[in-house]
Amino acid sequence: MMTANSIKLAEEIKGEILYSVRLSQYTSFGVGGPVDFLVFPADLEDLQKTLRWCRQQKLAYFVLGNGTNLLVRDGGVRGMAISLSRGFGGISELERGEKEGLILAGAGESLGRLVEFSRENALAGMEWAAGIPGTVGGALFMNAGAFRGEMKDDLQSLQLMDPEGDVVEKGKEELSFSYRVLELKKGWIILGGKFRLQIGNGQAIRSRMEEILQKRAAKQPLHLPSAGSIFRNPSRVAAGKLIEGVGLKGTRLRDAQISEKHANFIVNLGKARARDILTLAEWAKEKVFEEKGVKLEMEIQVIGEDE
Ligand SMILES: Cc1cc2nc3c(=O)[nH]c(=O)nc-3n(C[C@H](O)[C@H](O)[C@H](O)COP(=O)(O)OP(=O)(O)OC[C@H]3O[C@@H](n4cnc5c(N)ncnc54)[C@H](O)[C@@H]3O)c2cc1C
Repeated sequence: MMTANSIKLAEEIKGEILYSVRLSQYTSFGVGGPVDFLVFPADLEDLQKTLRWCRQQKLAYFVLGNGTNLLVRDGGVRGMAISLSRGFGGISELERGEKEGLILAGAGESLGRLVEFSRENALAGMEWAAGIPGTVGGALFMNAGAFRGEMKDDLQSLQLMDPEGDVVEKGKEELSFSYRVLELKKGWIILGGKFRLQIGNGQAIRSRMEEILQKRAAKQPLHLPSAGSIFRNPSRVAAGKLIEGVGLKGTRLRDAQISEKHANFIVNLGKARARDILTLAEWAKEKVFEEKGVKLEMEIQVIGEDE
């Protein structure tokens, strides 16, 4: 997929472009076909050039975070994946008052690092996120949440890039968050977020994080590749309980399996294909609807083409 035009982009930017890379290497499920281009912009200017190039070439693009909520179909993705992992990380404390601190975290930074940074600086509020494996950008886009916390809770503002390459900052009140959703216009990219956290006690923060990590390890199949919860939890009963209730826990299709430990996780036992994972999810959806009358909705993002 290397073309004269893409070589031109590669020469123009400081970062790197890879061609025809299998996204199975970049997703926690370990499945998915190739994307035509994967770019690692080194800075804002590189990102602007990349977006301009996509516009000129009429090429679709998407941001690839840590790939932990992503199911890429076996035929891969036509267009460009943009990774912010090399030039858009970093966390700094911008202000510290008597009761609160303000932190700026880059979208390419790992969410785990943001949780650790908060603990190291005795800032409370992010403990709920301990153990969620994505990036700050991916977690903001998904409004990731657990243990009654959500990304939006302590967010003050987001730095965004629009499809024309302009950088804007939007306060939380200008943004629309709901359960596992940030409504963002197509083509907009999250560059980072500012979080206002409460000054707390380092030891208490650590204990809460440890408690959460233990609960996760007890309930979730963390030893096998997955993308976390497949379905959003309907309002009354957890999706995992519904799937378990219709007898599908542990169901296997080739190397994809509805986890024996947590029925809202599908795990890759080795060489699972996206289509096997999607078929299992479809079975779960149909059976839960037939027997329980509840329509399950996917939480994971499914992208790309069938093979
Ligand atoms: C073991 C395990 C446990 C998990 N537990 C939880 C949990 O408790 N709670 C929870 O909410 N999730 C959980 N997840 C799911 C996942 O980790 C989160 O949704 C995470 O926030 C996704 O981040 P990511 O960087 O991996 O995003 P990706 O999977 O790479 O991307 C997800 C979506 O965000 C978009 N995106 C990513 N970065 C940006 C950006 N900078 N700008 C614009 N769009 C962007 C992508 O295009 C894609 O649509 C779990 C996953 C695993 C594997």
